[in-house]
Formats: sequence, C-alpha cells, structure tokens
Amino acid sequence: MRPIPTRARALAAAAAVGVVAAGGAITVATSASAAAGCSVTYSANSWSTGFTGNVTVTNLGDAISGGWRVTWTWAGNQQITQGWSANITQSGTAVTATNPSWSASLATNGTANFGFNANYSGTNAAPASFSLNGTVCNGSTGSPSTSPSTSTSPSTSTSPSTSPSPSTSVTPGIKVDNPYAGAKGYVNPEWKAKAESVSGGSRVSNNPTAVWIDRIAAINGSTDSSSNGAMGVRAHLDAALAQGAGYIQFVIYNLPGRDCAALASNGELGPTELPRYKTEYIDPIAAIQADAKYKNLRIINVVEIDSLPNLVTNVGSAAGATAACDTMKANGGYVQGIGYALNKLGAIGNVYNYVDAAHHGWIGWDSNFGPTADIMLQAAQASGNVKNVHGFITNTANYSALKETFFTIGSSVNGTSVRQSKWVDWNQYVDELSFAQAFRAKLVSVGFDSGIGMLIDTSRNGWGGSARPTAASTSTNVDTFVNESRIDRRIHAGNWCNQSGAGLGERPTAAPASGIDAYVWVKPPGESDGSSKLIPNNEGKGFDQMCDPAYAGNARNGNSMSGALADAPISGAWFPAQFAQLMANAYPAL
Ligand code: BGC
Repeated sequence: MRPIPTRARALAAAAAVGVVAAGGAITVATSASAAAGCSVTYSANSWSTGFTGNVTVTNLGDAISGGWRVTWTWAGNQQITQGWSANITQSGTAVTATNPSWSASLATNGTANFGFNANYSGTNAAPASFSLNGTVCNGSTGSPSTSPSTSTSPSTSTSPSTSPSPSTSVTPGIKVDNPYAGAKGYVNPEWKAKAESVSGGSRVSNNPTAVWIDRIAAINGSTDSSSNGAMGVRAHLDAALAQGAGYIQFVIYNLPGRDCAALASNGELGPTELPRYKTEYIDPIAAIQADAKYKNLRIINVVEIDSLPNLVTNVGSAAGATAACDTMKANGGYVQGIGYALNKLGAIGNVYNYVDAAHHGWIGWDSNFGPTADIMLQAAQASGNVKNVHGFITNTANYSALKETFFTIGSSVNGTSVRQSKWVDWNQYVDELSFAQAFRAKLVSVGFDSGIGMLIDTSRNGWGGSARPTAASTSTNVDTFVNESRIDRRIHAGNWCNQSGAGLGERPTAAPASGIDAYVWVKPPGESDGSSKLIPNNEGKGFDQMCDPAYAGNARNGNSMSGALADAPISGAWFPAQFAQLMANAYPAL
C-alpha cells in the first residue's frame, strides 16, 4: 500500500483550507471555537518481525503553538521500540507521539514528520485513524463544533473567487517540486568579499554559493578556522532574509570519521562520535532551520559529500580501500548519521535535502552505480521515509565536465568504442549531465520518489581557455581521439585536488535540463581542496598527496600525476591564485 505522495496531499489540503479560511474571515467564527483538523500520511516498511513506520501529519486547522500530540491505536500487537523526531510512548495498544522540544508549533498547513521502529507478528495492519490534539484526522476541519451561529453567514457566497489568499510566496510546510525555480539565490557576503579581493572578482561575486557547516563551531560562526567566517547559520539566514532571497544553500559536512578515503578534509569527529554528530551538530542546525522566522525561505541542505560512495568503492578488497572506510562501513556511522540528518532536517516544511552522489568518474561503472543507489536508499530508509530526500547532487567540489560536446558514450573511432580508451576506461558515462540524468532514473527505480531532482555542481568544471578543444579530433587512434577531443582537461578523471587548468563552469541556473533542478555553485570557487604540503592546523585537516603537484598517484587515479596546483593552503582556505585561474578559464567565458 503506497500512501498518497506527501506533496500531492499537502497541495490538496492547502486548496481546501483556502476555502475554509476565506469563509471564516467573512463570518468571524474565530472567537471561542478554533477550527481543528488534520490529515495524516502513514507508511510502514515491514520485514518479517519488524517495521519502520513513518507518520506525516498536516495541520489543517488553526495554528498550534503550545505543542502537538498525535495519537492512534494499533489493531494488532505492534510494539514500538524506538522513535525519532517526536517523543513516542506506547501503553497497551495506544500510542502517543508528542512534539520534540525544538518544534512545538504547527502552523496552518504545516506538517510534522516522525518515525519509529517497531516489532510485530501476524498482520501489520495500519491504524484505522490518527488524531491531532484530540481531533480525528479526516482530511478536513469539519464543522466548527461548538460555534454558536451568531453571524448566520449571509455573505458566504459573495466572494468565492477572491479567496485564494494573498500568500503567493512560499507556503510554509508545503515543499515545492523545484526549490530553485523562480527563486533568487542567497549570496554569501563572506565569499563575495573574498572573491572581490581578487582582481576581476566582482564579475562573478554576486553568484549564490553554498555555506559549508564543516564543524560544530561553524554553526554559530567562528573565525579561528580556514573556511568559516564570523557568520553562523542564523546570521546567514538573517542575511538571506535581508537580501530578499528565495533560497539559501548549506552543506551539512561533519560526519564521524569524515573523508575516509582521503586526508585533506578529515574532520573533527572521530569514527565513533556519532552521538556527538547528532546532538551537537544536527540537532542545533535543525533547531535553527525550523525557526518560523525563516519559514518563507527555501532552505537547501547538501548532505554529506563523498561519504556513502566511499562505502561502495573504497572498502574491502577494492584497489583503493582504506581502513578508515572499512571502519565507517562496519560501524554504520555514515548511514546512521545521514539517516538522522535527513530525518531531522527533512521534517521541516521549508527544508530540502539533497544527498551527495559523487560524480561520473567515480561511480559511473556498473559495478559502482547500482550499489551506490542501494546504499543511498539504505540511508534514506534509516531516516524513516525516503521522501526526506528531495534530490541528489553530483560533482560536488569536483571537476568533471558537464558535457563532452565532441563524443558520447556511443561514439567509436575506427570501429573501437571510446569506452576502450584509457581516459574513459570502460565507464558507462563520459560526462556529468548524462550521468546525473541516468543516476536519477536509477534512484527512482530502487525506490526513491519519482519527483526527485538532481543538482550538478558547476563551480569549477568549465574547462575554458586556450586548452579547450574547438572541434573533434580527426585521429583514428581511440586514445588520441579522446585525448584531443575531450573538454575535461585533467590528467586523469580520478584527480580531484585544485586542478590545474580548471575554470568556472555554468553559472547557477534553475531547471537547466530534464531531471535537473539546478546547476549550482556548492564548492565556493577559490576555496582550496587541500594543502600541497603538510600545514599544521586545528581543524583535523590532513595532508593528502593528491594535492601535491609532484605526486605520481595511486590506484584511485590510475597512478597518474595529481594535476594539482602548487602552493595551496589547507582545504577551505582562500586560494587567490586558484580563483584567478578559475576566472581566466571560465566557460562560458566571463
Ligand atoms: C573543506 C571544508 C570547506 C569546504 C568548502 C572542503 O574541502 O574540508 O572545510 O568548508 O571544502 O571550501
């Protein structure tokens, strides 16, 4: 049994409430008897002895401010063992779920989402009904029970057409399909100032870039780190309101045992510090993002770069396996941490979660493609509801070309497929756009919502400048053909650190192609990927040889040169020479 998709249901509910509110405004009917009503979407993901339940309640009545309570009775022997995003207790067959302390109010049309794990035997029947603060959720506000009919509605029929309320902007609690569409992006003033410190930077400094919350201290802002400034999450949200922005982008990036296959972005939390991730990192971010002050902003979270794909490609007997990735796979810290983040943040009506999904040069091979989609689903299910994931992002902080204009995966040279070239190396994709669209389809096929959208980070994948090919090669040798024709000028597609020759890519754009919600600048251009030699720091950042221009590589980059720029500071720190290069090689050109 599939529940009605939350988005469709919420929209239907909103339409109904518009009518009720209009009538109510005319007939006063507010005084003693507040309108109460609700609808509930319930889903259960069952296995033989247990299940994960998920409840989304939409408040169709007057705003609730003093706390909410959802109740129901089991028809069978279901027993809840653990809950999240609500305080859930069970007595006999009766269940009561009350609001978490950080989210006591529920606006009209606002939704609350929570989940639980439970045991059962026999049949796992859905509850017959749910109630919100004592009112049965039947999808309407019903009749205003007690209201003494003082104003016997002479004018009810007057203005049905003027009713669709003035709230044309963002409707709180109702997620739009594409949060980028028709909305102005928030420009991070701290990045803007850095961009403008480099000659010519003002040509691009008004583009929206993401705000990275890469340590606990970044939540409130801290000036003792390489990448954060004095502005914390709240300060950025306030600035977004002041700018009249429609959306703001954050990067949630602080998993325990972070960056398990590399060293440059190791973080502050050790492999077993999942509890701190939850209570000291995710909970406070969720509390701020849930503040009603920000309800008209679309808050976009890019969730945990590089982590889940590492559990597919860099574990066990894989050539690039690391002990740190083996640990994070075995202890569940990544999957559980992401599940927790998705659950907490996804429960907020105006928050949109996009999970990081690597890039074509990482998971474009069949052996990685399906298993990565599967582990994404596992993390989403750990959140209690796959709909906590609004979409996915590819190429975050990477350099893969958006489109290879001079060949496709189907091209061949003298009868030899480009897949056989050293550069493509049997991959199923040659560029990021074709990969993102195909991965979207794969994710839907494994169980994600059919409405998910993709983002592509185009901050540094422009590859313009004099090295950019202007026509397909005429060579009949497949390696020569691919090397002379390709837009992506890296030495190897596995190279990722401060790439020499890279340029700014497509400027942030909403809905640029089928299945793509936006091209975005998530990695702020000009912020380093890692230091080219060891630089002591207090952030847990290590030195990764992939950032050393003299390094001759490893199994993950085909034992090729790193292609990194020299003299780079630690990851996240401002690297003016790189920013100048990115502008010079921008494509489209500035
Ligand atoms: C770093 C972060 C930084 C981000 C954006 C990452 O590589 O580890 O500290 O905030 O890049 O520049």
